[in-house]
Amino acid sequence: MQNLLSPEEIATQAGGETSPNRLPESRLFAHRGQRLGTLAEGHAMGDFLRFAAGLCHAQQQRLDSLPLARRPDLALLTRCRQHGMPPLDAPGGDLPDAWQDTLRTLAATVSGLAPASLQDTLATLSDIPAQRLDTLARSILRAEEDLSDPLELALAPLIGASLQVLWTHRLSSLQAEDIPTGFEGSLCPACGSHPMASFVRIGDAGHGVRYATCSLCACEWHVTRIKCVSCHNTRGITYEGLQGESGDLHKGVKAETCPECHASLKIISMEKDPLVDAFADDLATLALDMLVDEAGFHRAGRNLFLFMP
Ligand code: FE
Ligand code: FE
Repeated sequence: MQNLLSPEEIATQAGGETSPNRLPESRLFAHRGQRLGTLAEGHAMGDFLRFAAGLCHAQQQRLDSLPLARRPDLALLTRCRQHGMPPLDAPGGDLPDAWQDTLRTLAATVSGLAPASLQDTLATLSDIPAQRLDTLARSILRAEEDLSDPLELALAPLIGASLQVLWTHRLSSLQAEDIPTGFEGSLCPACGSHPMASFVRIGDAGHGVRYATCSLCACEWHVTRIKCVSCHNTRGITYEGLQGESGDLHKGVKAETCPECHASLKIISMEKDPLVDAFADDLATLALDMLVDEAGFHRAGRNLFLFMP
């Protein structure tokens, strides 16, 4: 018996794609930086967005300077595909060798752009024991960070940025077909991290196709258009946007809210605005997170430039 395909699956296949997973493009961080630079103009959080733009450009420089990533061995890739396990396991795997070199390089590149409070922290980076940085990095990868310490809170975005570079680099050794498929998970099929947001792309067939975007490695995995990514509920999903006097303030971004688990995940749509970038447009719409938070929905997306105490 033939399996029936959903309209989105048909659109994905009509686009000539053989995998429901998409790898990030090689200039990912540069594009984030450019978009953040544009969004910073006249924005209430302009200084923060400009700093974030500088950090993205530093990430791209660092990524471009790394040697070719080593491909995981075939046995591991096969096992992961068979059992639906992420081959670049972030919560359960080891920290990449010399990850702190990437941290120090990013810190040196952005220190001139950083807000004064962060500059003080960056000046003391070499005094912080390596083991403490490793512990903090591991807790960020497991999404278990407890940032009651102001120093750790200040450093967390730079550590997050470093880990993004290293996981995107590792992901560059894979083909989309290497990544497990067949289950619409709430975690990244390549690295096991939480999604940052969902992103609607325009497929070659002209239909919108929705993906969840990984907060760490930037892999995208196909998800059904109207369905809570956290709990898979499909009933009663609603959308909130930022409204001004003359209509939508940020027309490419809505918060999808689920009445079952009270999660809110942004849906960022190229159909509404072809220039959107999931990472940049997520950071530029924190006001929307506050709005839905007041309505009783917690932010389910994880953005590694954003940490709360
Ligand atoms: Fe990932
Ligand atoms: Fe839900």
